[in-house]
Amino acid sequence: MAKKQFKAESKRLLELMINSIYSQREVFLRELISNASDAMDKMYYRSLTDDNLTFNQEDYYIKVIPNKEERTLQVIDTGIGMTKEELETNLGTIAKSGSFAFKNDTELKDGHDIIGQFGVGFYAAFMVADKVTVISKSVDSDQAYQWESTGTDGYTIIPVDKEHVGTEIILKIKENTDEDSFDAFLDEYQLQEIIKKYSDFIRYPIKMDITKS
Ligand code: ADP
Ligand code: MG
Repeated sequence: MAKKQFKAESKRLLELMINSIYSQREVFLRELISNASDAMDKMYYRSLTDDNLTFNQEDYYIKVIPNKEERTLQVIDTGIGMTKEELETNLGTIAKSGSFAFKNDTELKDGHDIIGQFGVGFYAAFMVADKVTVISKSVDSDQAYQWESTGTDGYTIIPVDKEHVGTEIILKIKENTDEDSFDAFLDEYQLQEIIKKYSDFIRYPIKMDITKS
């Protein structure tokens, strides 16, 4: 299947993410959790005006599931989901997510500042993952879709089965190198610490499944 290409700015940000410095990496989880929370807020607002939707607080939560054997980390939400078109526009283009668009090249060379000062959004996933898969079913669609990318070489979108509305993100966590370990992002206790540090204010429960190993 032919890969679709990222827009130029998206590609630049991706490169920055892929080569990010170690101490910044853990913020990827803050970004994914805040997107999950936003998606559930959107469901709530929708339910206020749509009589066919009821919002039961207990149905809305975020799940974080590490799997050491597979080297995957899943972040699952029961939010509003994305249509095929939304996957394309929201993940294929670096979000209009303000701050980044106004940065010039000199500022971009020092990725440190950008990642620290601004939310870098969804692409932060590429700081820790060499493949990112997003399976999403929108409240406005009966068909679910899977967006997948291994980085700057583009992304694919295919139809898949998913029963419930919401989004599931699967990160294939990078392999360790001699200098660098990514194992913290597969360890439930270290993940809990990261969640406590950056996502304590999130108004939805963040559940963690424990993988037997
Ligand atoms: P921002 O959150 O600042 O808009 P991001 O890069 O974090 O930028 O996300 C881009 C867009 O992708 C979001 O605005 C949203 O429309 C969509 N998106 C990302 N994650 C999810 C999710 N879990 N559920 C629904 N939509 C999402
Ligand atoms: Mg975001």
